[in-house]
Amino acid sequence: MADGSTQPRRPQSRPHSRRAGLAFHNDGERTTAYRALEALACAHCAGVIDAGELFSRHALMPGGSRTRGVTLLPLCNRCRPLRLEGDENEEQHEG
Ligand SMILES: [Zn+2]
Repeated sequence: MADGSTQPRRPQSRPHSRRAGLAFHNDGERTTAYRALEALACAHCAGVIDAGELFSRHALMPGGSRTRGVTLLPLCNRCRPLRLEGDENEEQHEG
């Protein structure tokens, strides 16, 4: 009666990203910026969002069908360029 089976503990849901803070898009729209903790796939261009990159999440409406739960899909910084609020470090490009 030796039951020595120990199951390794795995976290149920490992976060793929964490909130980076408030950000703005090029058109001035306010959004929440996230920083990828591991490589993610952009929902728009299917490009890779590398770990450490900033991205935003957007609700993409499923065509035709109405669902209550809105899924927020990641969009990479190339599809939806964003800039962190208060991020004034990029002052190198001056015209
Ligand atoms: Zn993209």
